[in-house]
Amino acid sequence: MKIVFATNNKNKILEIQSMLPESIEIISLESIGCLEDIPETADTIEENAIMKANYVTEKYGYDCFADDTGLEVDSLDGEPGVYSARYAGEQRSSEDNMDKLLLNLEGKTDRVAQFKTVITLNLKGEQYLFTGIAKGEITLEKNGNQGFGYDPIFRPQGYQETFAQLSLETKNQISHRGKATQELIAFLNKYED
Ligand code: IMP
Repeated sequence: MKIVFATNNKNKILEIQSMLPESIEIISLESIGCLEDIPETADTIEENAIMKANYVTEKYGYDCFADDTGLEVDSLDGEPGVYSARYAGEQRSSEDNMDKLLLNLEGKTDRVAQFKTVITLNLKGEQYLFTGIAKGEITLEKNGNQGFGYDPIFRPQGYQETFAQLSLETKNQISHRGKATQELIAFLNKYED
């Protein structure tokens, strides 16, 4: 069984392949000749993940899974949410995005936030959604230099450190993406066709 992972990141493919039986082969967008940017213009994280997976299945005829992630801040009505990557503009700069978020939260005491990842899997004509959530709060300033995106200003619940101060191993165990991926892996490992 071949399943496309709608990503161009080879490490992500190798990582997920290592958690699955040999009977399930995870293949890249490149290997099916999908070299264009896949549209992700929907208004919600769920719809974006669905849009990406459906694009591959409808245009290329493959079973596929795709993910989408956003950071939702309570006191900003769920912003930046689906716009997390381009919150401060199309340059998609993590530094600018964090600066904008810290500015918008200035003076606010409620700094509760969560990361959400949705993975959509199209498999044999059925569609499945897996969701992973990491709850926490936005810190007053940037801390740490590991990870990416908003990691330096997100402190997960139960920890004193930001995601950018935790090891990748710890982050993977508690992160939104880690949890959604674990759900997908568990599903595929017990899937029988
Ligand atoms: P994507 O859907 O995985 O591309 O994520 C959208 C945006 O959310 C990214 O550009 C990052 O800014 C942010 N993001 C996603 N996952 C993480 C994370 O684990 N830590 C920090 N920021 C993240």
